[in-house]
Amino acid sequence: MKRYVKNMRDIALTIDVEPDVPPILNTWRGVEEGLPILLELLEKHGVRATFFVTAQTSEIFPKLVNRISRENHEVGCHGYEHERYDRLNPKEQSKKVELATKAITKIMGRRPMGFRAPNFRPTLHVFAAIERAGYIYDASVASYKTDPGSSRFTFVEIPNTLPSSVLRLPISFSAKLLRLCIAALPLTVLDYHPWEVIEMPREVRFDCRFATGETALHRLDRLLAYLLGKRANFRLMREIAENEGSRRSGGKERSLSRISRSKGFLLNHCR
Ligand SMILES: [Zn+2]
Repeated sequence: MKRYVKNMRDIALTIDVEPDVPPILNTWRGVEEGLPILLELLEKHGVRATFFVTAQTSEIFPKLVNRISRENHEVGCHGYEHERYDRLNPKEQSKKVELATKAITKIMGRRPMGFRAPNFRPTLHVFAAIERAGYIYDASVASYKTDPGSSRFTFVEIPNTLPSSVLRLPISFSAKLLRLCIAALPLTVLDYHPWEVIEMPREVRFDCRFATGETALHRLDRLLAYLLGKRANFRLMREIAENEGSRRSGGKERSLSRISRSKGFLLNHCR
């Protein structure tokens, strides 16, 4: 009997574009030096990624941020200046979401469709604000942190599967772990930062510092080649959100903002 080739599995590579290891450092080497290197690496492998950019980054480096979307990647919003929303009052949280959305829209010439709260620390007020702002999906929840209640909202929640430091481990470990994820999950969401391909100084805590720089770049290069060799299918987050929106509505409802969230799918599979 003819067997189908084992399913290609979906992966979303997400890259958070921000100052270096916020709030520990106040430098921008990741954006200035690391981002162009990462874009070249993605181009080499033909991989498209979703970049969650802080509004401040888009204001300081508009050309670089526009280059991301020119090279067919997606640009989403990562807050205004990498603020911890859980440490702000509700009014400030809403204001920051509004300002960040406005600033990125102005630089890009179109609204971002996805949002990720810094440090994977969303709140119910952030969820309410991004719903009001018309985001079709949220990526602020991590499978290894608490979800404050995204299921009460209409956007699609696409949780992160693994912390970024996993991609800096020796490939013998990271490939094994990823193989388990892609075998078990319909979607594996990976997180990364441009500052990881720059060697981070000693004052940065160990999990954000180990193997940064050349080692990180080399390991990411090999890991992407490995995943592509395993027929992994790299997808943009907005495409995943759009498909999920259509699936929920049985293909009849095209307007994602009006689709009510159904239980299941990503969150259940990605925990
Ligand atoms: Zn971040």
